[in-house]
Amino acid sequence: MNLNNKKVSILGMAHSGLSAVQKLKSLGAIPFMSDSRPLNELNIENEILDNYDYETGGHTKKVLDADLIIVSPGVPTSISILENAFQKGIPIWSELELGYQIVKNFKSKIIGVTGSNGKSSTSTLIYHILQQSGKKVILAGNIGSAFTSFPIENEDYEFIVLEVSSFQLDTILEFKPDISIILNITPDHLNRYKTFDNYVRSKSKILMNQTENDFTILNYDDSICRDIANKYPVQKEYYSVGKFINHKVWVKNNKIILQSDNKIKKEIDFNDIIIQGLHNISNISAATIACMYCGIPTDDIVNGIITFAGLEHRLEPVLSFKGITFINDSKATNGASVLNAIQSFHTPINLIMGGSNKNEDFSPLKPYIEENVRNLIIFGETKEILYRTFNDIVSTYIVNDLKSAVNQAVSVAKENDYVLLSPGCASYDMFENFEDRGKQFKEIVLNIRTNQG
Ligand code: ADP
Repeated sequence: MNLNNKKVSILGMAHSGLSAVQKLKSLGAIPFMSDSRPLNELNIENEILDNYDYETGGHTKKVLDADLIIVSPGVPTSISILENAFQKGIPIWSELELGYQIVKNFKSKIIGVTGSNGKSSTSTLIYHILQQSGKKVILAGNIGSAFTSFPIENEDYEFIVLEVSSFQLDTILEFKPDISIILNITPDHLNRYKTFDNYVRSKSKILMNQTENDFTILNYDDSICRDIANKYPVQKEYYSVGKFINHKVWVKNNKIILQSDNKIKKEIDFNDIIIQGLHNISNISAATIACMYCGIPTDDIVNGIITFAGLEHRLEPVLSFKGITFINDSKATNGASVLNAIQSFHTPINLIMGGSNKNEDFSPLKPYIEENVRNLIIFGETKEILYRTFNDIVSTYIVNDLKSAVNQAVSVAKENDYVLLSPGCASYDMFENFEDRGKQFKEIVLNIRTNQG
């Protein structure tokens, strides 16, 4: 679609919406922004408000006076204004699709990473390897920097690494990565999708437009990932942390083995890798195959892997104090990520969970909590659900806020234990976002040390 002089409505005036509106204007379109929240709840610079047409506090019919609608990931596709738009035949795109339409005829190779957990870790690792190998690359998408916030129209990048969420995939049209990765699919966002099948269908859209000239990299250890691409013509490559030997990358005896032309080229000992946990070995395997497809030399891939220090708020060590080690895993917003966190440590854990409710059933965690968790401290909107699920198998304490949770954990922890914030829930009931929750956790821990140290 040539966007010059086209009327485009943008739903959602947060990060990606604000980025899209500026890009659209620079491309000659006539944008109009609309947000259901009142202006005082939005964080928008005056310069934007002065220069763009907008409405706040609800979506009016003005939205429908458009050739195209761009919908932000946080806006549910079921709202009535979008149903009306659909009936009127107005195309509805995610900001991801808008970015794709700008770059689709360029030579840049697009790597799209999706999954329930590990998207940010894996896409950042791929970006780190490509960048260290001297490539012109951007990292964009769900990770915090919207795709359209980069000068992508200049055709300047050799590689575009995109972290792609299911919400963004809900409204794609032609979006097609050259290389897609699906890391895992476990229950999440059921408050939006209602059923797990709907969620899986949304994730599988990353494959929808890929052809036999494109690649998908799939986690063999996750049965849903294993089968999801069967009906698509895309070339498939599987990785595993034990069950399956990929001829490029495999894992054996606590080593990652990189091979090409049937020759072992390099081995990386787990002890040489900074990021912890078998789930990260799995993420590294996916990233390695992607970089091999990008033509990156094996030595550069290995150097990238062993110098990657991981991301804040993902199993991030905060400090050790009086023999207790504090870990910030605020980004763990579903049960599967809590499970990985619990399995990453070998001494008892005092686990802090809780947050806003996504209708997830946490009972699959029960045997692991029973085995590895000494005390469970819960707070936030989901505290009653968590209490009902775990109270009969572990000492469980309900508290009112994060500070009380940390204090409670410290008072019941024993020497050599961990205090782990791995909430398993979104943060929006009590915090701005998961970063805010993680930062507050770290501050509380530091204050305890200052006051008691
Ligand atoms: P995402 O961007 O998909 O939310 P992150 O890399 O930010 O993923 O990690 C989110 C949480 O999931 C963290 O708690 C992290 O330790 C955990 N995690 C990372 N990779 C995996 C994986 N492959 N499987 C399960 N959990 C993972």
